[in-house]
Amino acid sequence: MNKDQILNLQNQYVLETYTRDMLLVRGAGSRVWDADDREYLDFTSGISVCNLGHCHPYVTEAIQRQAARLVHVSNLFYNEYQPQLAAAISENSFGGRVFFGNSGAEANEGLIKFARKWGNEHGRYEIICMNESFHGRTLATLAATGQPKYREGFEPATPGFRFVDFNDLEALEKAIDEKTAAVLVEPVQGEGGVVPATQEFLSGARELCDKHAILLLFDEVQSGMGRTGTMFAHQPYGVQPDGMSLAKALGNGYPIGAFIVQWKWENVLVPGTHASTFGGTPLACAAALAVFEAIEESDLLLNCRKMGEHLRGALVKLTNDHQKLKDVRGMGLMLGIVADEAVAPVLAAARSKGLLILPAGPNIIRLLPPLNVSQEDIDQAVAIVSESLEVL
Ligand SMILES: *Cc1c(COP(=O)(O)O)cnc(C)c1O
Repeated sequence: MNKDQILNLQNQYVLETYTRDMLLVRGAGSRVWDADDREYLDFTSGISVCNLGHCHPYVTEAIQRQAARLVHVSNLFYNEYQPQLAAAISENSFGGRVFFGNSGAEANEGLIKFARKWGNEHGRYEIICMNESFHGRTLATLAATGQPKYREGFEPATPGFRFVDFNDLEALEKAIDEKTAAVLVEPVQGEGGVVPATQEFLSGARELCDKHAILLLFDEVQSGMGRTGTMFAHQPYGVQPDGMSLAKALGNGYPIGAFIVQWKWENVLVPGTHASTFGGTPLACAAALAVFEAIEESDLLLNCRKMGEHLRGALVKLTNDHQKLKDVRGMGLMLGIVADEAVAPVLAAARSKGLLILPAGPNIIRLLPPLNVSQEDIDQAVAIVSESLEVL
């Protein structure tokens, strides 16, 4: 089928919930190609999904092998890979038990249900969330998302959520009351503008949750799986949550989401309280296991930290040289450039020069290259961003 035929079908049959205008057909490493065989440097990684780059051989091989062996059996049976993947997630984080779903929103729904179920036994139900956060598009995760624009037209919102400013420890302390069951935080806000938690806030949130004997929950759907230079973004803070969600990069593009709760909470969700038909299939888990293997064997976290520093340095230099750029923020290879006006024209200019980058809100350019990106690719991307800034 040719490009025009495909786009005609798109325009006739696919609900237009997204604005998009580019047909990508092929990818390898940090590059993708469109239907006219134009090459692009992809610094979006499918929004921090393809952290190993496109079509990573480990993941491709695992999917091919497992697709020919066993795709799905339902959760009425064990499968070979679900326990191995749960162990990998547990060993690479704070230790605990894992539930598998298919997306970030579903992972967060699970965490929210976990908090509600725990809270029910303690007469608590409310979850305190952060302004400008993003937790997904299902009704409960929308209600937890601190950006009211996403909820408009879908009222009434699911009850039981309230909001405080991110990194405002005093506000959090004031908001906790006898109804509070949990505090939900992204250690680095992604959609909200690439904003890392301060050390004071994350440590303080842990102390407050301990003091009030309530749960601290981290959404690492975007920041997890090596994106910030450690397996999970919260790790360098030395703060452990009671539960954590992950998804995006877990399967490097094969859809899978999960949440993990500390061992001490293993009896909150018991048989019959939560389920997902497609959660943790042998195929999805084999793909995600290959992701963990690739991260370990290729020293990916080290590369992420090194390349993250290199990219940040170059962006700081751009920012110093350009009066409309105000700041560079983020961690590892999750970086944002803060401008004092809308950046959409810069993104369009970059694309026309062969670089794909993202916004994070109207004024922030977000860069999410694959974690195995080379210095040459970064230098090329920075050169394109620099040229593209001329439109500001
Ligand atoms: C993308 C994202 C989600 C939602 O994930 P979906 O797979 O789109 O449902 C939730 N939380 C954060 C922090 C995200 O970045």
